[in-house]
Amino acid sequence: MSAEYDYDLFTIGAGSGGVRASRVAAAHGARVAVAEEYRVGGTCVIRGCVPKKMLVYGAHFAEDLEDAKSFGWTIEGKRFDWKTLRDHVQNDVTRLEGLYGQTLGNHKVTIYNERATITGDHEITLASGKTVTAKYILVATGARPHVPEFPGSEHVITSNEAFHLDELPRRILIAGGGYIANEFAGIFNEFGSKVTIANRSDTILRSYDASLRDRLLQISMVKGISFLFHAEFERIDRQADGSLLVSLTGQEPCEYDAVMVATGRVPNVEGLGLETIGVELGRKGEIVVDAFSKTNVDYVYAVGDVTDRVQLTPVAIREGQAFADSVFGPGEPYAVDHSCVPSAVFSHPPIAAVGLTEGEARNQLGNIKVYQSDFRPMKNVVAGRNERSLYKMIVDAANDRIVGIHMIGPDSPEIMQAAAIAVKAGLTKADFDATVAIHPTMAEELVLFK
Ligand code: NDP
Repeated sequence: MSAEYDYDLFTIGAGSGGVRASRVAAAHGARVAVAEEYRVGGTCVIRGCVPKKMLVYGAHFAEDLEDAKSFGWTIEGKRFDWKTLRDHVQNDVTRLEGLYGQTLGNHKVTIYNERATITGDHEITLASGKTVTAKYILVATGARPHVPEFPGSEHVITSNEAFHLDELPRRILIAGGGYIANEFAGIFNEFGSKVTIANRSDTILRSYDASLRDRLLQISMVKGISFLFHAEFERIDRQADGSLLVSLTGQEPCEYDAVMVATGRVPNVEGLGLETIGVELGRKGEIVVDAFSKTNVDYVYAVGDVTDRVQLTPVAIREGQAFADSVFGPGEPYAVDHSCVPSAVFSHPPIAAVGLTEGEARNQLGNIKVYQSDFRPMKNVVAGRNERSLYKMIVDAANDRIVGIHMIGPDSPEIMQAAAIAVKAGLTKADFDATVAIHPTMAEELVLFK
């Protein structure tokens, strides 16, 4: 590799995409450094998917312990202690952060625990003042929560702070109707907080199939979560007793103990020196890249949320891997396929989906077949929990190919991972029909659609 530069690759940001790219590039023989101003691991590991999933597990015990009674168990003196869960989760986050650092170290990647700025062609200056050069620069700085501007917006928290609360709020308002709003609404609600979701539009989880959205809305309301639509912030005032008086459009002012904002995430591009070398940004501030994650500057690449393609960790990881293999590996360059990406919302119950929704399929294909199973999982029947699951399969009528699967119900993300392989592979409804069911399971509904 080039001796002209201090490093073959300098990565800014040690999150999911940056860590994968750095370690793979190093494994291909590149001399790699990575700068991280916060904690190695990035959003997913430190304040996103991983700690969130642990809270989801913790929260679900509320229902499991309740349901246990119907299965004959008596649980005396059950109580929940937020600080115990919070601290256990944070301990594990620290453990994972260490492992990520170790992986980079094992691959001889130099870690700079400080901010890095591009200060010239192939040149990076670290917060300490040290300047280094690199043949390639990878920007993998992720995204941060978007906080709308309005009087009193300084009183809100985001998902970043939600993991560290001293106390659980008795009443919490969550603004936004997307992934984070619905996941945290479920978490706080199970812990006993009174949760209200307020969204600017008239729906939740806009990109998901309408029937699943309706089902989540209905189940969430039964669980005690309130929803306000067409509701945007006018102002928030802190009152003498510490509570927050929140004024939303079309609503009477209402008191809460905490207000959390989950209204999307914006790419972290400020202060990176991108303008110094003329890296092109898009309308939302995202770094514009081609299919190979290359920017308009020949030696600068970007992966993950900062490019605002698909804001999901496994996608960032793939982009990082493809970049490193393509630029430093022995094979031909290759691009990540961003089609047919499965996804999940870890609400209570969770949603999982892959491919086209019914609406999208109708618009794109015209002639489709929709198969649906609306059932009460066996565990819920015994528990006396009147909560139904809904599975949907969308099939292209022209060739019997499955173009979408949508599920809401216990463990649906776990089930979806396997089903998504079939959809990605272009299997047909007949292929599913030819597969014998595993009985009794919820997943068997996928091969029993009539
Ligand atoms: P989402 O994009 O999921 O949802 C944003 C919500 O905020 C929507 O309901 C939207 O309303 C509303 N909104 C958007 N912009 C504004 C604005 N300017 N003012 C007021 N409301 C606004 O964002 P999240 O913050 O929930 O999550 C960010 C991203 O992180 C997700 O898109 C996802 O890619 C990723 N993520 C993935 C998870 C997973 O895989 N399970 C979990 C958490 C996050 P409208 O109804 O108009 O669309």
